[in-house]
Amino acid sequence: MALNARLDHRNPLVFDTHELGRRPGALQRLSREIEAPADFGIQGVIGVPEGAPVKLDLRLESVMEGVLVTGTARALAEGECVRCLEPVEQQLETDFQELFSYPDADDRGRVKAEPADDAEDDEDTLFIEDGLFDLEPVLRDAVVLALPMQPVCQDDCPGLCSQCGARLADDPDHHHDAVDIRWAALQGLAGSLEDGEKDELAGGALPSAPVDEKQEK
Ligand SMILES: [Zn+2]
Ligand SMILES: [Zn+2]
Repeated sequence: MALNARLDHRNPLVFDTHELGRRPGALQRLSREIEAPADFGIQGVIGVPEGAPVKLDLRLESVMEGVLVTGTARALAEGECVRCLEPVEQQLETDFQELFSYPDADDRGRVKAEPADDAEDDEDTLFIEDGLFDLEPVLRDAVVLALPMQPVCQDDCPGLCSQCGARLADDPDHHHDAVDIRWAALQGLAGSLEDGEKDELAGGALPSAPVDEKQEK
């Protein structure tokens, strides 16, 4: 707590609980549109671009230990298809719930709460400071959880041609007539062999003409 900078009520992700008072059961609903902070998503994969609108609907409920915040965030995430590298957009909607504790309620809560729970949650406890709480870490976690680790432009995206890199979804009939490039490389090799060897290889590999076949038999 002491290490944290004081929360700034002008920060759009900082919310004020004064209106709720400290009356357990009191409820407040609010909606707010904010601009996405930096690095809002899975870095290098998909995320909400910095400054893009994020719509928040929140329900603040006063409870004994603090304020229980339940909410939904909506935004448009942008990324890249992992198969074909085309841009991907995904409408994001994610729910979250978090308890922000009153700093002075901690000791009282400790007596009431089951000891095991308390020990587990200790590190993650979020606090209300001067009646304010910062939603950013909660929102950040919720957004990351709601995003795909491997976004695709369409479920059955066929990806890219392994030979020329063309996007197969744009060109479903795409194929290469020529021999596999690995064979092409081998043919090049054969061409560089000595003349005698080359003839032998060619003679063995080329199908004989029908006439020749009959004669041989
Ligand atoms: Zn794709
Ligand atoms: Zn190709």
